[in-house]
Amino acid sequence: MKNLEFPIWLFNAFVFFVIFISGLAFSYWKMESMLEQQTRNQLVQAAVRVEAILGHAKSASEKGAMYAGSTCTDSVLSALRAHVAAIPDVRSINLAKYNQIYCTTVYGSRHFDVDGKDYTQGKLLLLNGNELTPYRSLIVYRNLTSYGNSVLAGVDGYYLYNILKLIDSKSHFYIQVGNKFMSKDGIVITQLGVEKTISQDSSLYPFSIVADISQIYTFSTFLQHSWDSIALVVFFSVLTSFLMSRYVLYRKTLDARLHKAIKKAEISPWIQPIYDAENEQIAGGEILLRWLEPGKDYIAPDIFIKLAEENGTIKELTSICFINTAKELKEFSFAGYTPLIICFNVSAWHFKNKDILSLCDYFSRFVSPNLFRIVLEVTEREIITDSLETQEVIESLKERHIALSLDDFGTGNANYSYVKLFSPDYLKIDKMFTSGVENDRVCQYVISSIINLARKLGCAIIAEGVENETQKQMLRAMGVTHFQGYYFSIPVPLNEFKNMLEQTRAADDNAVQGYE
Ligand code: C2E
Ligand code: CA
Ligand code: CA
Repeated sequence: MKNLEFPIWLFNAFVFFVIFISGLAFSYWKMESMLEQQTRNQLVQAAVRVEAILGHAKSASEKGAMYAGSTCTDSVLSALRAHVAAIPDVRSINLAKYNQIYCTTVYGSRHFDVDGKDYTQGKLLLLNGNELTPYRSLIVYRNLTSYGNSVLAGVDGYYLYNILKLIDSKSHFYIQVGNKFMSKDGIVITQLGVEKTISQDSSLYPFSIVADISQIYTFSTFLQHSWDSIALVVFFSVLTSFLMSRYVLYRKTLDARLHKAIKKAEISPWIQPIYDAENEQIAGGEILLRWLEPGKDYIAPDIFIKLAEENGTIKELTSICFINTAKELKEFSFAGYTPLIICFNVSAWHFKNKDILSLCDYFSRFVSPNLFRIVLEVTEREIITDSLETQEVIESLKERHIALSLDDFGTGNANYSYVKLFSPDYLKIDKMFTSGVENDRVCQYVISSIINLARKLGCAIIAEGVENETQKQMLRAMGVTHFQGYYFSIPVPLNEFKNMLEQTRAADDNAVQGYE
């Protein structure tokens, strides 16, 4: 990794911090939504229970309605008192006319002032206390009948605030009527003085149940409810930062090992022969790098090439391919009908400057173009932009009769734009498609369409990853012009490749002599 110059502990701390904070934020958000849902359910429950009590008050006031406007006689009083005794939760029934209560089940025929405007929606009044029990809150239900008469049913606050206590003893719930709030201690206040509340309105009576959520969503409730999530967040933060640091260390070590391996010439080009589909003779080969570090595990090119592209050593690795191959093949003379193709894998990076041209020129100085033709394999998996520099490089390659091949064709998403940009001489079918040619219809369609396109463009087609006879036969029947794969040969050192060519030549010579 290029930009990891800061100490590993700092990296660890950073990863830990980022994951820990995001984990905590997520857990907090989860707790909030969970508690909010729970609180809403409690509000609904509380509202239903308060409605039930007010239902009793309503029923008492309806029962008393038949005496509305009647004189406060003993018989009226005893009838009303009988209702108070029979109906649960109700403390008193009072008869009023206009602004005067004139008959109460508690005091009998006495007069008290009353103002209908104090009642929310003319129906409900929350009081801190009254003359009878000045320190005990109550709620009054008002039933306005006719001719200025009304019946008032009082309910002791005790029944109401007990609901709040029952719902949750630690609750911060209030019953709100108009602009008054009754707390779970039965105290009636006119201002709540909190910012964050949620509430549930009753659909039957003009009251709401209000929850002070600033008291609910606190750090201590968070710790209480989410200690298991917090423990998990800590665990995952530590684990991730540990794994990330291991990965970074691995990359740093691999980076250092790669530089050392290049210096010690532990990375060298091998070649995998490519065969002509018609006569199954060697038509050339693909240069593939092999990292043979003494006493260590084999490191696949897929891993170190990616790293080399990131840290810039790909430039040196490509040079190694060209220089070593040229040295190995320079004294070799192989009089075939057509030159053998030597395919080099090149990265997007090489199309940004002219270094690749110098490498091709170097190769051609050592190795006769009549014997070996350079093919540059451009993989579709990398993005090469159609810039002026790229076009110049491509033009110069064409002038030198260097062939271009589109590697891994069909696996990326650039196929048609690359066809246009590179005007390739070869299209290479990836081993992913070759492996499916026998049974997979999609692979068969892809291969057919690549072959159709190649024919129209006048390109040769190399099928990579041929592993058995059936694949070979099917690909040949479909129109593939070249084979490459373990069925024919695995990648081999360059001198072994030369031996293979020598044997082919000897076999050819024998055949010719036999014919003569
Ligand atoms: P690639 O260009 O697609 O190369 C073909 C890969 O398929 C090679 O893997 C080869 O060994 C493997 N292969 C060939 N025949 C068969 C077969 O019949 N069956 C199977 N399963 N695999 C087969 P390798 O050598 O591990 O290379 C992997 C990749 O590394 C290459 O993929 C190429 O993208 C990159 N690479 C290798 N050498 C170089 C190099 O010198 N320069 C650059 N830029 N990339 C290279
Ligand atoms: Ca390739
Ligand atoms: Ca491939």
